[in-house]
Amino acid sequence: MAFDKIVVPQDGEKITVENDKLKVPDNPVLAFIEGDGIGYDIMTASKRIWDAAVQAAYGGQRKVSWMEIYAGEKAAKTYDGNYMPEETFDAIQEFIVGIKGPLTTPVGGGFRSLNVTLRQVLDLYACVRPVRWYKGVPSPVKEPQNVNMVIFRENTEDVYAGIEYEAGTPENAKLADFLRDEMGANFWEGAGIGIKPISAFGTKRLVRKAIQYALDRGLDSVTLVHKGNIQKFTEGAFRKWGYELAKEEFGDVTITEDELWSEYDGHQPEGKVVIKDRIADIIFQLALLRPKEFSILACPNLNGDYLSDALAAQVGGVGIAPGANIADYVALFEATHGTAPKYTNLDKVNPGSLLFSGVMMLEYIGWKEAAQMVQDAYEKTIEQKIVTYDFARQTEGAKEVKTSEFASAVISNL
Ligand code: NAP
Repeated sequence: MAFDKIVVPQDGEKITVENDKLKVPDNPVLAFIEGDGIGYDIMTASKRIWDAAVQAAYGGQRKVSWMEIYAGEKAAKTYDGNYMPEETFDAIQEFIVGIKGPLTTPVGGGFRSLNVTLRQVLDLYACVRPVRWYKGVPSPVKEPQNVNMVIFRENTEDVYAGIEYEAGTPENAKLADFLRDEMGANFWEGAGIGIKPISAFGTKRLVRKAIQYALDRGLDSVTLVHKGNIQKFTEGAFRKWGYELAKEEFGDVTITEDELWSEYDGHQPEGKVVIKDRIADIIFQLALLRPKEFSILACPNLNGDYLSDALAAQVGGVGIAPGANIADYVALFEATHGTAPKYTNLDKVNPGSLLFSGVMMLEYIGWKEAAQMVQDAYEKTIEQKIVTYDFARQTEGAKEVKTSEFASAVISNL
């Protein structure tokens, strides 16, 4: 496809999908959106580290061809005021894998969040957030080394579907009348009304991805997190459909927690993933008190949203928590924090969140050696107490450095 402002690098090749698998050339084109606010600083630093790790891991055999695409303030400058140009969506669809910095959501004027727009237009239905601790990272818990979970959050349904009717509007009154008169519902006058759709289709494609992820990595369990005791036909159905999917499509490689006890006396059989479920409120406590019991948490949208930030806090906070939004193949990796506008261009903030999102991206394209090298070098740098301001204030004897200096330190530790 010909683009207006996007320049496709001539030295790179497209990633394609063949036989239901990504086919990644040695010189893939990867798309990136720089991001607003601190985006420039963290993207510049992270790209230097990823490139150096790829060079160190494959000695020039492999190399990323970066292709800049635009969203947010840089898009508005490039496309005459358009914050979310159409060709950005086209480029992600065509080149399949990309990474983005944080984007400002301008307040007011009915402006939709650019992040939400990207997820919805590209139908990036699984939000994947690994939560693990790196040695030396300041943490509020006693044994952060036990925290190692991946959250799979459904991204398109639930109360985030945007079906809401404001109190006092004719639409609200119409729906309230219908619910009271025809459905026998009982609720206070003047209530705002929101609808919470959760479907078998939406649940199953999310749980399928979560189980496949566990199988690919030899992880021991997938826990369905739900509030089905109260919301029976939405959250409860999520639980039911999750178990159903496991049985229908992965029956030979999964067992339920009940089967684990009734048939295996609680000992995990080799090669099987245990499917279990927990109610959403207790999972917050269990993930804090007994994190070792969980590998993958598959959640409807709202539970997943809360849980992602709560768990990230155990291992260093949103400054280093990575994430990705993934469809069947198309994947957009992203920093999970915002644009931190007060630090724009100060070369000050922690690039960790974007850096580790890039590690996820390298794993996603199968470049596991480079991904591991970034993680090892990062850990070594933190152990040397070379850190950005946010960790410096929590680390005794730390050497506080700028974003770019931190990147140089990681590169020298590769
Ligand atoms: P934020 O940008 O995440 O910043 C909040 C605070 O988090 C910062 O002031 C800083 O805390 C800390 N922080 C964030 N990133 C950091 C980093 N890389 N290194 C170290 N510390 C970091 O949240 P916000 O101020 O609520 O939102 C600002 C803008 O970002 C808004 O326009 C919002 O819509 C947007 N946003 C975008 C995304 C996204 O693109 N995915 C996500 C969330 C928000 P201290 O100052 O205390 O050190």
